[in-house]
Amino acid sequence: MSPPSSSGIYVSRGVALLLAGLTVALLLALVVLAALYGNCTLVQPSEQHIPGVKDTASTPPGGQEQARPTWTPEAALEPAVATTSQDWRPPSGPWNHSRLPPWLVPLHYDLELWPRLWPDNLSYTESVTFTGRVNITVLCTVATSRLLLHSFFLTYKQAEVWGPLALGTRNATVGRVPVDNVWFALDTQYMVLDLGQVLQPGSRYELHLGFSGQVLQCVSEGLFLNLYTDQGKLRGLIATQMEPTFARTVFPCFDEPALKATFNITIIHHPGYKALSNMPQLGQSERIDVNGSRWTVTTFHTTPRMPTYLVALAICDFDHVSRTERGKEIRIWARKDAVANGNVDFAMNATGPIFSFLEDLFNISYSLPKTDIIALPYFDNGAMENWGLLTFDESSLLLEPDDELTEERVRVLAVIAHEVGHQWFGNLVTMSWWNNIWLNEGLASYFELGIINYFYPKLPKNEIFFFNFLHDVLREDHFQRSGAVSTKVENFTETNEIKELFNIYTYNKGACMARMLDSFLSQDLFISALQSYLETFSYANAAQDDLWRHFQMAIDEQNIIQLPTTVKNIMDSWTYQGGFPVITLNVSTGVMKQEPFYLEKTENRTLVSHNNTWIVPIFWMKTGTTQPLVWLDRSSMVFPEMQLSDSDSDWLTLNFNVTGYYRVNYDELGWKKLNQQLEKDPKAIPAITRLQLVSDAFALSKNNYIEIETALDLTKYLAEEDEILVWFEVLVNLINRDVISDVNNYAIYPLLKKYLLKRINSIWNTCSTLIRKNVAALQDDYLALLSVEKVFETACWLGLEDCLQLSKELFRKWMADPEIAIPHPIQRVALCNGIALGTVKEWDFLFSFYINITKEKEERGSRLIPAMSCSKEPWILNRFMEYVVTVNPNPFNETNVIEAVAASEVGQYVAKDFLLNNWPAVSERYGPESVDVLVWIVGRTVSTDLQIMELLCFLGNVLDEHQKIAVHTKLQAIKTENLKNKKRIARMAEWLWKNT
Ligand SMILES: [Zn+2]
Repeated sequence: MSPPSSSGIYVSRGVALLLAGLTVALLLALVVLAALYGNCTLVQPSEQHIPGVKDTASTPPGGQEQARPTWTPEAALEPAVATTSQDWRPPSGPWNHSRLPPWLVPLHYDLELWPRLWPDNLSYTESVTFTGRVNITVLCTVATSRLLLHSFFLTYKQAEVWGPLALGTRNATVGRVPVDNVWFALDTQYMVLDLGQVLQPGSRYELHLGFSGQVLQCVSEGLFLNLYTDQGKLRGLIATQMEPTFARTVFPCFDEPALKATFNITIIHHPGYKALSNMPQLGQSERIDVNGSRWTVTTFHTTPRMPTYLVALAICDFDHVSRTERGKEIRIWARKDAVANGNVDFAMNATGPIFSFLEDLFNISYSLPKTDIIALPYFDNGAMENWGLLTFDESSLLLEPDDELTEERVRVLAVIAHEVGHQWFGNLVTMSWWNNIWLNEGLASYFELGIINYFYPKLPKNEIFFFNFLHDVLREDHFQRSGAVSTKVENFTETNEIKELFNIYTYNKGACMARMLDSFLSQDLFISALQSYLETFSYANAAQDDLWRHFQMAIDEQNIIQLPTTVKNIMDSWTYQGGFPVITLNVSTGVMKQEPFYLEKTENRTLVSHNNTWIVPIFWMKTGTTQPLVWLDRSSMVFPEMQLSDSDSDWLTLNFNVTGYYRVNYDELGWKKLNQQLEKDPKAIPAITRLQLVSDAFALSKNNYIEIETALDLTKYLAEEDEILVWFEVLVNLINRDVISDVNNYAIYPLLKKYLLKRINSIWNTCSTLIRKNVAALQDDYLALLSVEKVFETACWLGLEDCLQLSKELFRKWMADPEIAIPHPIQRVALCNGIALGTVKEWDFLFSFYINITKEKEERGSRLIPAMSCSKEPWILNRFMEYVVTVNPNPFNETNVIEAVAASEVGQYVAKDFLLNNWPAVSERYGPESVDVLVWIVGRTVSTDLQIMELLCFLGNVLDEHQKIAVHTKLQAIKTENLKNKKRIARMAEWLWKNT
């Protein structure tokens, strides 16, 4: 899957899962939820009696051949009959465990699914149901009279067990095993079949299950429906998302990644639709239902052995384009409008070469005969790598054909690269269990970088990795965090915990682990070890230790690269611990130490856990020359070669190219020498290192490892800094919400302004020239393009006259002809400044533009609403927020307008008053989450208990007791944070006063 997105609040089936997990009695609550959220939630049936299963009279004496019952799908829609009371609970047994008992191994699934989707009968309110049947061939490994498999939210009509099967012929059934009872363990999402006889080890059996379920409409889980407009008409499509554990909501199965099997998939669909699945189409036939309606039955070739989470299907009336790459067809499917408009062309041109690039790199051909890629109008998961049928949200795949910007292209390219990378890491070789999901996600993420570099060799590789992967995860990660990239635990008490593993650590930190390995093993060795790993575990499963073993084999076969210990020892120290180390070098003594990175370190904390160490590869540079790799494998070591004298002009930096996953600190002399060099000749220090110095210094100062003054000293030379990425990093750290959350803070604002205005001229001139002439000239350097925005925003925030003029100019031109868009990278800032400097005329113009555009939903939410919130007129902001709670239907359902208004300097006060005066209407519109927004907004400037009491007193009228307690706790936390910021800001102000 592509990385999780933090935006958007939806009521997921997680709510239902949680409730369903409690007790059968809570089914009532689910019914209430189902009523509230329509097709978002499903109801898991409690114990069911499956008609016929106890009808032993129909079972022939052992071994006697009998014709199998005829399957009548229509009948499956009849309601199942519950036979036990609602307070019935299963006794304790294997169904209480989160892992399936190893009694049966699935070998093959014959799966037929029939969603009742008609193109002429689409509706946002009517739910779509599906029926299905599956025959699962299993091998019995332990004698058992009880059969467990996963099933959730499915209703059953048929459950039979046949066998033992004659050897060598899957279909030669010799008898029927009586099924005495069928029931469901809701907490663990199992279906349990109590059998009337014992299954024999070494024998194969077939499970015949007939079931029905509901197609989801507002979340992309299991089998789900998209309703969308194409060629001016409402249309519907059905697609799937099985990862991690939703296959069990579509068909009963052994839903664990190591239980790989082959699949024959059949889809029954309206003749007006096309059906797609993992494999190419095998044939088509017709079926007529009880009402006389004709349906098309599409069958597909048998898949290779694969886990259930990769099963995929789609039913749609999309158009497609296709190419052949090395003899295999690649088709990209999208709305007819989008295909006609050329929106799939970029992806079409890129996908084939990505496949070839990775085939050559891993020296293993892509396993399937074809690839389909489908652009779904609404897909919560961004993108998913299903083998042979990749699903993408439109925003992750489609591009306007005239969109020349590298930024957009790199973004789409990276998502395609990630999902294609999974065809090897994940699909061909799958992790044995979810605790090693980083083997899929971390490696697929890391190879995005290689592909970006292949397509755009001029882009700075180290900087791209720094901003795309390292930057965000280093800001989040710390030693107290309980999780790690990997865990040794292979059991999870809650199925929901599996979904939580798809987080920034799995993706970003996983990619960082891969890059660090790549750096100390050398690229050739890294790739050849991966080749051998992929080859060995093709169509099978692997754990982290298997990967380490293949790296170790590669190391042992040569003698150029020497490691201080085994690859496993080195990497276990990184993947099984949360956080990362801070490496501190004393350049006078050459003593290097490591300690865990804590958020807001205190002395005590460091002493308590000091025995946690990492085995750290240190690439380093001395006075402009790269040095041989050294290893820090204890808490403290001496490196005499790293000593610097006070007199000469030497300097030294650790973690060259930032390939290591750690932060670096120096003693006073070490920092002083770096400062001296920056002021003398900044370019002697590579740009990536200047970026790293700023990033490390501010992060370390914020968390009490060094003084804030040490970080600020690094900014003195900025007038000479012409690398916009370094500027970006400085500005992100200097001008952020912590520092400027309160414009009343006169202590810092004028000083910061004066300090930066003295230094920003040169970089501003570069930026403004670019903006005035042609932003697209930066096309090949999309990172710089992104940084232009930050410099533009800062220059205007500082009140630089030229910047304000330029903003007005851009907005005026755009108003005169909105067809000519403001260049994308500066659009947000130009629109914001245009509104801030303008009058109600400009505001109304932007608002009507917002209401009338329909094309890019992203643009509507992410650019225009923040821009409208930039007004400095309180009445305009008030009117804006009033639209939200009074206009029907609400035109702003994509984002929270009040939050956007509160983010601006003037808006924070206006939004606070508005919220307090209109709370009932706001909470009705935005639901329970609006309490968080309320706290965030009203608490922004609290610094005393009295202020908190006043707020709570006021909120007393609108919040219930439970909410009040929660709000009080949050406000106290914000107060503590604000007070801490105040102290930090006071020290910054003092430093600025001395240095301005
Ligand atoms: Zn992924």
